[in-house]
Amino acid sequence: MNEFDKRILSDDGLFFWLCQMAGQLDSAVVIINPKKSFTIEYVNQMFMYMTGYSETDMIGSTLSLLHGQHTDMLNEKDLQESIEKGVTFKTSYFLYRKDGFSFWSEVSHLAMRNQLGELQYCVLTMRDVTDSMNVEALIELERDVYFSLEKGGTFESVMGNICDTVATTFSKECHCSIVLLDENERVLKIYGELCKDLKRLDENALLMGIRIGDMGRLHKPIIIEDLLKSEYCESHHDLVKKYHLVALWAQPILNMEGKIIGVFTMYFKQHVDPKDIDLKFLNRIAPIATLAVKYFDQKKAIRRLAYQDVASGLNNFERFKNILNEMIADGSAGHIYIVKPGEYQTIIDLYGRRGGDEVLSQLANRVQSLSTFANSIIARYTHSTIIVATRLSLREMRIPQKEFDLVLSDPYYIDGKEVYVTLKVGTSIYSTQVTLTEAVHRADTALSSALKVNGTVIKKFDQSLIESVEQEMNVLSHFSRGIKNSEFFPMLQPKVNLKTGEIESFEALARWMSAELGFVTPALFIPVAENTGNIYKVDRAIFQKVLQWQKKRLEAGLRLYQVSINISPSHFYNASFVENSIALIKKYCIDPKFIKFEITESVELDNVLRAKKIINELQHFGVATSIDDFGVGYSSLSYLQELPFEEIKIDKSFVDNLCDPRMNAVIKTIIQLSSNLNMVSVAEGIETEQQHNELKKLGCKIGQGYYYYKPMPIEQIDVLLAEQMTVQ
Ligand code: C2E
Ligand code: CA
Ligand code: CA
Repeated sequence: MNEFDKRILSDDGLFFWLCQMAGQLDSAVVIINPKKSFTIEYVNQMFMYMTGYSETDMIGSTLSLLHGQHTDMLNEKDLQESIEKGVTFKTSYFLYRKDGFSFWSEVSHLAMRNQLGELQYCVLTMRDVTDSMNVEALIELERDVYFSLEKGGTFESVMGNICDTVATTFSKECHCSIVLLDENERVLKIYGELCKDLKRLDENALLMGIRIGDMGRLHKPIIIEDLLKSEYCESHHDLVKKYHLVALWAQPILNMEGKIIGVFTMYFKQHVDPKDIDLKFLNRIAPIATLAVKYFDQKKAIRRLAYQDVASGLNNFERFKNILNEMIADGSAGHIYIVKPGEYQTIIDLYGRRGGDEVLSQLANRVQSLSTFANSIIARYTHSTIIVATRLSLREMRIPQKEFDLVLSDPYYIDGKEVYVTLKVGTSIYSTQVTLTEAVHRADTALSSALKVNGTVIKKFDQSLIESVEQEMNVLSHFSRGIKNSEFFPMLQPKVNLKTGEIESFEALARWMSAELGFVTPALFIPVAENTGNIYKVDRAIFQKVLQWQKKRLEAGLRLYQVSINISPSHFYNASFVENSIALIKKYCIDPKFIKFEITESVELDNVLRAKKIINELQHFGVATSIDDFGVGYSSLSYLQELPFEEIKIDKSFVDNLCDPRMNAVIKTIIQLSSNLNMVSVAEGIETEQQHNELKKLGCKIGQGYYYYKPMPIEQIDVLLAEQMTVQ
């Protein structure tokens, strides 16, 4: 025996030596005898501390004493196999303490052989790695949550997953649920395996928590060691017993701002004594739930933004289209209404956008509350309109005039102030034959024509509306070329002295012979030009041609007549109107007394100060002015006194109603008043001898109308004037 051989230990010696060594280590050590069915022969102090088992419990027993519900038996098998083969091995193991608490243990195994190479003992060192395993579980859960959020997982599934993870990762068997609260800390929803049954308990626990907890306490976990003894469940003993519940832990879930948005509740079937590591775990899992809640809240907000008009809280048009398209696909048909408060712009001027939003949302609510519209879809269409689709069958269709009147009978309120509105409504029909886009377009067209009428009006779409819009668009698209190619020209209509029948002067009326469109009536192109700010181009074109005519007559030594040029209000108020007009008159060297400007009486003339200044400037230069269409719409005899027009033109509508005694009296007053103000009154549209006589009797000086002459081309006027000369 050499020195080395002498030192070889006997089996007992080896065992003794191993025990000595294990006693000194600060990790848990178990010595197992593979020859005696893997029974435990030794445990050190650290092991006893870690598992709660004593030497007596363990010696002669096997490691399976530490197994429990969630212990993975595959691990156990691997360990056994490696022991049998005598190879070194390391694994993580889910084990249970004597008191039922579970923990993660990292187990390394060392094979001890005698000098013959026979396996004598296995030394297992064990380390509690619960903390790092929890962290890993959390990281995995976090990944899971992110993943299922990414994949569009439901809120329920994400919450369920969190509950499952808590229940399985947690060191003790438990039921976990998540209770979410609303802004007022009332229970919103509960998630988790037993949530339905435990809901009552959860709610109760929560209410209690809120009752006992001042805010400071609520933000910390609530631990109830014995549910049956606690006031939390006084009235829920049945549930506690049914599920054999012993303890409850509740961990508040806080949002990013630190406000409580929910609670984790964990119900244990055994007595539990939370350790630091458990509390840490709870603290770490709460932010994952917070993250999921926040994500879904944001998603909801985005959804809301995508389908809701934020300002009014109404559905937006996108949502309207989605619903209606589905209905049309299902064969539905009905009416579409686009509704605009007539006073929308005034409301915006007085109360701002918010006022407009407010009126639209009140309007929508009122419409919705009427039985006719009960099943209809209502949304905001544009900033000033709402859109309604009713689900009537086509046979029942009628225009709900009464209903729209009803929603107007009471005032609307903005900032507590009463606002009365009228409604402009455009309506059309949608069905499987008419696409939604087409139906909305039609209702829009109908609304445009409703907007032209005073008061509350419902206009039904009909094809002619589209045609007239198309016609206007057509006119507009050819207009500029018409101006450029000098396609506009004046026709002259004589103004006649009622006493003598002599031609006193003329009015120039614009005509358009378009190369592409043919003859276009003024009734069509004048409004289009006015609405698009182009009317000044027409006025100037006519003015210039009149001046050219006068210059030609002047040069030919013929008598000149005064010609009235029609000027639209927008042109009249243009800053350079006076200057440009004077320049043009000077350019043709025409005496300004042969020019008169006819300005249509309109609401714009209400700006008396500006109008007066312009009229005075023109007068100063020697150009006369006339107020056209007097008596239509905006008549205000009062401002007549302030505006120094030389002429007042009594509108044809008055002349047409001369035999109505009241109308007759009005005309008489106008004529007298104008004569007092040194204005010449001209009656327009005289068509009969009777009208002629009556106007003469009322003191009217000048007349114009088909009874005397129709508007005529300049060449014809030259002929007419030449004839009259020869007669004289
Ligand atoms: P207005 O200035 O009131 O012109 C009188 C209109 O009545 C003219 O229509 C004329 O042809 C028509 N008229 C004259 N006598 C009779 C009559 O006895 N019976 C009937 N039924 N009608 C009669 P017109 O030429 O179609 O012009 C329509 C309107 O277009 C004008 O009304 C005027 O407001 C506007 N307008 C015409 N030319 C111009 C222009 O160069 N510039 C501007 N801004 N507006 C113009
Ligand atoms: Ca006129
Ligand atoms: Ca007129």
